[in-house]
Formats: sequence, structure tokens, C-alpha cells
Amino acid sequence: MNLCEYEGCEREGRACYLPDDEREVAYHFCHEHAHIEGFCHGCGGFFAGVGDFDFDSSGLCDNCRGDLGEDFDDEDEDDFWEDDE
Ligand SMILES: [Zn+2]
Ligand SMILES: [Zn+2]
Repeated sequence: MNLCEYEGCEREGRACYLPDDEREVAYHFCHEHAHIEGFCHGCGGFFAGVGDFDFDSSGLCDNCRGDLGEDFDDEDEDDFWEDDE
């Protein structure tokens, strides 16, 4: 396993990637420090300054937030089409 690279942190870190090379692992950070450093702890992508990522307490990018299905109360498309006769 890889430890979080944040100074003084001894948690396990996940691979984080910079946008200019998404195949090369740039850092390892735990979920907390990934967010601090601007990385999504779900996918490891760099999202600092993108949308509301910096301010979202989940620490997840839009994509990963969607995957979780939390707070994702979208319209049910089946209902939408039901009256269409
Ligand atoms: Zn850490
Ligand atoms: Zn993500």
C-alpha cells in the first residue's frame, strides 16, 4: 500500500493524477488530503478550481458524486412519459 504523501499523515493514500498526464501517478493522498490538495478521492483526478469542487464537503468531483447516487434526486423518466398518450 502507498501512504498519503501529505506531511505528517500516515493514512493510506490513493493514486492521484495531474491533468497533463492522467496515466502517470503524480501523488498518493488519503481522502482528506486529496481534497485539500485539489484531487478527487473517488477517481484521483485534479479538480481544484473546477465548479464547486473546492467547497463540496464530499471531496468528490461531479462525476464521482453522480456515481454515488447521493442527493441525486433526478426526475424519474418513466413517470415523465407515463401521461404521454
Ligand atoms: Zn493524508
Ligand atoms: Zn472523481
